[in-house]
Amino acid sequence: MGEFELINHYFAAAPCAQGGEGVALGIGDDCALLDLPPGEQLAVSTDTLVAGVHFPAVCDPRLLGQRSLAVAVSDLAAMGAEAIGFTLALTLPEVGPTWLEAYADGLSRMAQRCRISLIGGDTTRGPLSITVTVFGRVPAGQALRRSGARPGDLLCVGGTLGKAAGALALVLGERQAPAEQAEPLLAHYWSPLPQLELGQRLRGLATSALDISDGLLADCGHIAKASAVALEVNLAQVPVSPALEAFLGREGAVKAALTGGDDYVLAFTLPADALAALAGCEVHVVGRVVAGQGVTLRDPQGLDITPVQRGYQHFRETP
Ligand code: ADP
Ligand code: MG
Repeated sequence: MGEFELINHYFAAAPCAQGGEGVALGIGDDCALLDLPPGEQLAVSTDTLVAGVHFPAVCDPRLLGQRSLAVAVSDLAAMGAEAIGFTLALTLPEVGPTWLEAYADGLSRMAQRCRISLIGGDTTRGPLSITVTVFGRVPAGQALRRSGARPGDLLCVGGTLGKAAGALALVLGERQAPAEQAEPLLAHYWSPLPQLELGQRLRGLATSALDISDGLLADCGHIAKASAVALEVNLAQVPVSPALEAFLGREGAVKAALTGGDDYVLAFTLPADALAALAGCEVHVVGRVVAGQGVTLRDPQGLDITPVQRGYQHFRETP
């Protein structure tokens, strides 16, 4: 199968590539064309997943299809944007019809959940690597940024944390767990659900937001820096799921929640009186914003117990 047949058969014909709101022209020309309503801004973000680095080289392609799109769409959620379309740059070692079929199916399933359309891409041969670029729209000036947190604000997260980090040992086959523990963790690793609705609800309420991809403490550091404030996280308030706690024990679960990656849950700050407007959304208060800089973890007695290693980095800072 040649490059163009492959694109047509597996991607242009996929359910997720049949256009949608905001897509004036999809796959097939030199560029796709998007319509943006007056008064809205385009939100754009790219994520690359490399085999053996971001996912095991041998894995279920359907799950990989879901995950590769979800992690990218999560950035739109973090900006309070609505999804429009995405491009897919796929580098493949070989053309395996079974792999492509399943991958495109997983991609389409996640696309349907996020209401986003495949609008183009690039297909090349080489070691397996997947780059997804997402496009979304947000009313001008209303995107959620990292830079507006103010002393006095609450620090919140949109769900329990650490499930994907807990799942990693299962994904890599290093550990096993009974189904009632393993399933919720693996589900979160392979198909995290981008919190698009929560992000949109946060517009006009949150003073800062991001999606947690490198661990709560590490990502809170980005808000602290961009906003020139300090964030305090209260250990006792960090939410972990029962499945994670059963699998790793309380201490292990909390460690995964604080420093583990791949959660794709939103973290945000807002004034306490804005909380009521989020009724119906899963929101956990985990700390607060104070004057100063950096992120501090506090135990129930208020003692500073901030760990040295706060999250995952591909390139470590030189000492
Ligand atoms: P060009 O050479 O002009 O960049 P290509 O030959 O790479 O175009 O691709 C032809 C069309 O197929 C373009 O519309 C492109 O966006 C689309 N396309 C290529 N690869 C993919 C893919 N993996 N998924 C979706 N669309 C793709
Ligand atoms: Mg071209």
